Amino acid sequence: MIKNYVDIDAKLDKVNDECGVFGVYRNDDDLDSVQLTNDALFGLQHRGQESAGITVNADGEFLTVKELGMVSEVFNEKSLSRLKNGKIAVGHVRYTSSESLDRASNQPLVLRYKEGSIAIASNGSITNFPEIRKELERGGAIFQSNSNAELMGYVIATERCSTDNLEDAVLNSMEKLKGAYSTVICAPSRLIGFRDMYGFRPLCIGKIKNSYVISSESCVIESIGGEFIRDVEPGEMIVIDETGFHSYKSKTTADKTSFCIFEYVYVARPDSVVNGVSVHQARFKAGELLYKEFPIEADMVCGIPDSGLVAAEGYAKASGIPYGTGFVKNKYIGRTVGTGKDKMARLLKTRLTALKSNVNGKRVVIIDDSIMRGDTSRHIIKLMRNAGAKEVHMLISSPPFVCPCYFGIDIHDKESLIANKMSVDEIRETIGADSLGYLSLESVRKIAEGADIDLCDGCFSGNYNAEIPREIFVDKYAKKINKK
Ligand code: SF4
Repeated sequence: MIKNYVDIDAKLDKVNDECGVFGVYRNDDDLDSVQLTNDALFGLQHRGQESAGITVNADGEFLTVKELGMVSEVFNEKSLSRLKNGKIAVGHVRYTSSESLDRASNQPLVLRYKEGSIAIASNGSITNFPEIRKELERGGAIFQSNSNAELMGYVIATERCSTDNLEDAVLNSMEKLKGAYSTVICAPSRLIGFRDMYGFRPLCIGKIKNSYVISSESCVIESIGGEFIRDVEPGEMIVIDETGFHSYKSKTTADKTSFCIFEYVYVARPDSVVNGVSVHQARFKAGELLYKEFPIEADMVCGIPDSGLVAAEGYAKASGIPYGTGFVKNKYIGRTVGTGKDKMARLLKTRLTALKSNVNGKRVVIIDDSIMRGDTSRHIIKLMRNAGAKEVHMLISSPPFVCPCYFGIDIHDKESLIANKMSVDEIRETIGADSLGYLSLESVRKIAEGADIDLCDGCFSGNYNAEIPREIFVDKYAKKINKK
């Protein structure tokens, strides 16, 4: 039994995303919907490592395998044999900010209501969750988890009681659900995908032969042999059946859309294209812009694996300073067991090593994507100095985190954010760098120039395009933000 595992990146000083979703509507006899979904979840593993699940609709019978653990742990010959090659399948990988790893929140979540069954899998965060849940509970609803998917399922099932079809129920639900959600639904006879009106999280459509898929990221579509068609638009619902895909628009639209800029900086895979912009190009540009703002004299530029690597290449290109490998990441420490400070210390020690033969005696620029609490940065710089680096300069390819995220990224505790407690120079001193620089807000807004969507930078600026949760408004910091 998989128990009390903690993903190494997820519980260190790194930001965590909340989930990846995938769905397939199979129109080709020679495709296997279960195998395709399993392969796709491997490609989305970076978006969530704490549980994985697949639900398949096999001639109306909804079969599910889901469990805590990585995709490779949850799906093996035995568990996959419990699923059948159905017409429609949906899959999910989850990250949870909860230490308790609540099994009831594993997705896809299958709901049986008076009109039939649906399986739902979602990425994001519903900001009016408490209000909706209280209202439903007053009407007698009993919840088994704190998951957005369960709440969304209840709202859709309730709406279905007063509509003629599931499509209208989903569109009505999109009016009620606030915040961030990129969601797939396996319905009795169709696959549905929809994205909140701000478009906070990615969601796109692809095609394999005559079959269609919906995925959190485009890189997955290519890796399973399909071709990318387009992004699902903010506020759009896509319905796929045997005739192809059909587009519906939510009646409510946002004044300003709000795609998470941190998807470009850290979350998404570099081989994905989101909102018309390559994630690799955005990271490369962040590195180039870092050089404009911090032209350091050095002998070598390196990145922290994995998301700092491309920005380091951009810095090297702009500066002419050679790019090199500064750190080796132990790929085989995916998960570890235990709790508490000792575990964190062990994780830090075993995760990365500095490449002494490459850095000894050199002035090194290290590029990372972000700093949350500062523990990892301090450790990284110590590793570099112990390996003999003469100077260590730390550059961050995003601005300092100063505010929480309410839209699906695990930046909740503003008190733990080092940039809320210290000036840049104090942080530099704490982590032990010779110099420290963060990409400016102005520059980070340029990394995805050409994107066909507005960008959210709320955790860096304190300004959010979408309403932030009412319950959090009582928080004095949020009140301050709201006055701006
Ligand atoms: S607040 Fe930050 S992490 Fe959250 S959606 Fe906006 S940019 Fe992304």
